[in-house]
Amino acid sequence: MNQSANASRQFDAVVVGAGFSGLYMLHRLRELGMSVKAFESAGDVGGTWYWNRYPGARCDIPTTDYAYSFDPELEKGWTWSEKYATQPEILDYLRYVADRHGLRSDIEFSTEVTGARWDEQEKRWRITTDRGDEVWCRSYIMASGCLSVPKSPDIEGASRFAGPVYFTSRWPHEGVDFTGQRVAVIGTGSSGIQSIPLIARQARQLTVFQRTPNFSIPAHNGPASADRLMQLAGDRDGYRHAARWSRGGVPGELTDILGVTASDEVRRQRFEAAWEEGELFGILGVFADQGLNPASNDIVAEMIREKIRSAVDDLPTAEALCPKDHYFGTKRPCLDTGYFETYNLPHVRLVDLRTQPIISVTEAGIDTAGESFDFDAIVYATGFDAMTGALTAVDAIGRDGVSLKEKWATGPSTYLGLMTAGFPNLFMITGPGSPSVLSNMTVSIEQHVDWIADCLSHLTAEGLDTIEPTALAESGWDQHVRDCGAITLHPTANSWYMGANVPGKPRVFLPYIGGVNAYRQACDDVVSQGYLGFRLTGPGEDRCTDGIIRRMQPDVAIVLEMMAGMGLPPLESLPVADARAFMAAAGATRPPSPEVGEVTDSVMPGPGGDLAYRLYRPAESEGPQPVVVYFHGGGWVLGDLDSDDPLCRDLCARTGMIVVSVNYRHAPEDRFPAAALDAFAAVQWVDANAASLGGIPGQLAVAGWSAGANIAAVACQLARDAGGPAIRGQLLISPVVDSDMSRPSYADNGDGYVLTSALMRWFWDYYADPADRVDPRAAPLRGDLHGLPPACIVTADFDPLRDEGLAYARALEAVGTPVVDIQARGHTHTSLTMVGVVISGAPVRAEIAEALRGFVQADASMGAALQEPAAAG
Ligand code: NAP
Repeated sequence: MNQSANASRQFDAVVVGAGFSGLYMLHRLRELGMSVKAFESAGDVGGTWYWNRYPGARCDIPTTDYAYSFDPELEKGWTWSEKYATQPEILDYLRYVADRHGLRSDIEFSTEVTGARWDEQEKRWRITTDRGDEVWCRSYIMASGCLSVPKSPDIEGASRFAGPVYFTSRWPHEGVDFTGQRVAVIGTGSSGIQSIPLIARQARQLTVFQRTPNFSIPAHNGPASADRLMQLAGDRDGYRHAARWSRGGVPGELTDILGVTASDEVRRQRFEAAWEEGELFGILGVFADQGLNPASNDIVAEMIREKIRSAVDDLPTAEALCPKDHYFGTKRPCLDTGYFETYNLPHVRLVDLRTQPIISVTEAGIDTAGESFDFDAIVYATGFDAMTGALTAVDAIGRDGVSLKEKWATGPSTYLGLMTAGFPNLFMITGPGSPSVLSNMTVSIEQHVDWIADCLSHLTAEGLDTIEPTALAESGWDQHVRDCGAITLHPTANSWYMGANVPGKPRVFLPYIGGVNAYRQACDDVVSQGYLGFRLTGPGEDRCTDGIIRRMQPDVAIVLEMMAGMGLPPLESLPVADARAFMAAAGATRPPSPEVGEVTDSVMPGPGGDLAYRLYRPAESEGPQPVVVYFHGGGWVLGDLDSDDPLCRDLCARTGMIVVSVNYRHAPEDRFPAAALDAFAAVQWVDANAASLGGIPGQLAVAGWSAGANIAAVACQLARDAGGPAIRGQLLISPVVDSDMSRPSYADNGDGYVLTSALMRWFWDYYADPADRVDPRAAPLRGDLHGLPPACIVTADFDPLRDEGLAYARALEAVGTPVVDIQARGHTHTSLTMVGVVISGAPVRAEIAEALRGFVQADASMGAALQEPAAAG
């Protein structure tokens, strides 16, 4: 049939692609009674598994899990022959799915979508193809895959080679026989690592050109895991449900064992077990912290390097095969069958392009710096323009004539990885900003398809015809995606996850790393909150509940979840002694704090008796340093020198300043104004004794967190009134500056974020009588604010005290006091102090440290090199 004869057809939806996502999307939409047309550039269904026919191509998620779950009958009718099925078997599976659901009739094969333009009048997309088709559709759904557009070879002279050239991603259907040939393979990603051992079996001579060595573990392929099959047979639905709510899309327990604190024996045992298991999520999850903490990552990476060294006979080759320039997992690790051992074969040679770069491909082969190679065939396993390549290949033109390529010129921007503002009714399956390539793709695909299908069905039911994210929701999601990536080691690598493999591509961490479960919850929450962040329109209708679905820093959210899971009693329900004991016990479980040069405990005189203090001296510094007097938090009731020890170390290490942490008197034993008076006395004493403490006289700042910031602020007011000492600056982290609990931040954050309204009330009740709570020595916001030292005021989004901190900042500014205003996005009252636990707090503490240094830097001799803390964050 002449397909062009079908010009100007109308559909409810057009789906681009007939791989795993396109097939299921087509099926769901047809179930909803929608008219759908799918376009597929290949000659048949299969997507990735249609094109990537190179020898050795297999999935790297066990096939029991790498399969659809939407149709139990489909599962009953198909048995995988191996743990990791081969490409032909997976392609057969997809053909079987297409046949079983009669999907082919709605797919136009060998047809590429070349243009897509939104018509605002019609509220439809106009789609054009390379066959001259023009179709119109309400919804335009890109099911075009994350790794489907091959990277064009960015190698000098690539077109000059006279012999046959093969791309792993576009392998000839009839296969290739390399028998007797001299073959070059360029690239050692998954495709190279899977194909090299098999090409070596045929080739007379195989030369592998490696730019970056890759981590790979043995797949230990064989029959599907008996344990998994048993679980599936016993409770298929339960198993699939667990997959949907798992972190990576495959059921499994997550460990809470940290690499940095585990014993050598535990480290070895966990690593060997994962090595033997031969699964990606296992080896990526040997330790809970290996994706976050360089020290933990190094432990796993070094054990893998040991394995490589023991597998490869030739020492220089083994060393060249050992990845050392990126953290394990930050580039996609591979699963292999005999990859490293292949280099022990006499006809296989590794060329390390780091020491011997390619100068040019020639007619006869490849010239590197120093050597000329002749080949009969060249294989490119050089990867893909990942995640965005297929989306921008059809340069969709959205509202206002803006193209997707233009909009994404500095990197993709999406809401949930599903849609992007300015492109109504354009859906992406596993788009950038969704878990996609970091997860079991089939689970993520099904979730996206179901979400889109449910959304379209909702629009129909409500008589609506368009949906589009708002700019606010989208930028909020982009930020959340970045926040999730930023606490991991991923941004450090030149990986395709970062777009770094394609010259000129913006460097952005493309997928969402918060987990399949967290992501699914976010998508569900968007819907249950009335499609939060989407604008839905229809005849006479314009609905929008605008907002940001996830504002909290991801690691803060995890800590809160863990705490909620522990069912801890509210502190205010405990007797004071028990609350203090609880705090001390919690403190004992903290990870190691940053190293400083010296820590000494001593006492100083105070108005009610001696005050204990702890002095932190920076490492590797010579000569006197400026001094900061620090007061811990704890609502004037809890806390001591130990409670804020990590934060004091962090401040000391980051600023190169001496930190003197003072343990003032606490309520209820000593009520208002004991703590404030102690604070002022401590500042006076430190000022008077600065030189003997190793400090620079006159280079004095004060600091505190929470109630400690309260008495630090009060000490500044008292010092001003007393005519000294001169204080260069005040650092107030989440300060209590007023007793008025009616500000909106109490309503917003008074419950669920550790410091609650109830706990704050408990603190106030122990500390000060109601009449005293308006005294500026309890509520410094109510005092005279003229003539106070410059301030750095840190507030956190999810803190009941946020608004009073902001009010203090504004009030100080109003009387001309310079203020550094640090608003910690996505943090709680306590999270910035969780040094070594809440990684996202580290950049904020870096800003805080800069402000603190700024107080004294102008004329202090900061001769000492300021060092970064050993375990910052
Ligand atoms: P890849 O991981 O991007 O690897 C490409 C390789 O080619 C890298 O070693 C790269 O070196 C090298 N390369 C690229 N350009 C080069 C140049 N100009 N000169 C020299 N070397 C160059 O691509 P891939 O192996 O096709 O895999 C991509 C992804 O597809 C995988 O990470 C995986 O997610 C998926 N995949 C999965 C399987 C599976 O097991 N199911 C199989 C294949 C692919 P650099 O690292 O230095 O850039």
